[in-house]
Amino acid sequence: MLYYASDIDKDMNTYVNELCLIGIMAATMYVYKQINAKAPKPDTDYLLTKYKRVKVPEDSPEDCVICLDLVTFMYYGLQCKRCKHTFHKKCLRKWCDESASCPHCRYEYH
Ligand SMILES: [Zn+2]
Ligand SMILES: [Zn+2]
Repeated sequence: MLYYASDIDKDMNTYVNELCLIGIMAATMYVYKQINAKAPKPDTDYLLTKYKRVKVPEDSPEDCVICLDLVTFMYYGLQCKRCKHTFHKKCLRKWCDESASCPHCRYEYH
C-alpha cells in the first residue's frame, strides 16, 4: 500500500471519510429502526385472540362500527369481551394492525 502516491492517499481519505459518514448515517438509521421496532406495536394475531368468535342471531344483526355495515348471521363476527360489540373479522384485523383498543369501547387489550 506504500506504493500509492500521497495525492492518491488524499483522495482516498476523502473517499474513506465519505464512506464513514454514510456508515454512520446507516448505523443511526438502523438504531432508529431498532428502537421503533421495540416500541409497543400491537400484534394483530394476538389481539384478535382477545375477541370472542361469535355468530350473531339471524334476527338481530349487529353493526360493525369499523365499516358501518351490518354483521349478519351469514358471517362470523368477533365480539369485544368487554362491551359485547361485534365486528367483522376482516375489519377488526385491519383495525388491530393499527390499534390495540376496541373500536367501540376503546378498551385497551394487552
Ligand atoms: Zn365491518
Ligand atoms: Zn369493546
